[in-house]
Order: sequence, then structure tokens, then C-alpha cells
Amino acid sequence: MPVRFNTCPHCSNKITFKIEIEDIDSSQYPAPVYIVCHSCKKLSTFYVDSLLRVSYKELEKKIGGKKTIETR
Ligand SMILES: [Zn+2]
Repeated sequence: MPVRFNTCPHCSNKITFKIEIEDIDSSQYPAPVYIVCHSCKKLSTFYVDSLLRVSYKELEKKIGGKKTIETR
């Protein structure tokens, strides 16, 4: 299970989360997944490529996501 290190687009705190291919709709890349920051509790949308690497992120909840992932 790949572990990803990134920052929250709301509060800029460091976040760590685990993601698997089952967590995204792999019919189209980059694929959205919802991320909830452990620090500010806000949700954002991260877009990942086929290797589950984060391509970019949006502050809002965008359509097309399958799963919400907690961070630590
Ligand atoms: Zn945050």
C-alpha cells in the first residue's frame, strides 16, 4: 500500500496517507480522491496518476471521487 507525503492545501501542514488503486476510479487519469487533513479537518481533492502519485490538488470537493482518505 503506497504511502504518500504531501501538504494540506488549506493549512499547509504536512500530511501522510495511504492509497491503493481500489481507492480511485482508474478509468481516467489523473483520478480524484478526497483527502481529509488530520490537522484542520478540511476536505480537499487530490488528483493522482496511474502510479498513485499526486499530480495536483484542489481546495474543494470535486466530482468523480470514490473514496475519502484520512491522514495523519
Ligand atoms: Zn489542513
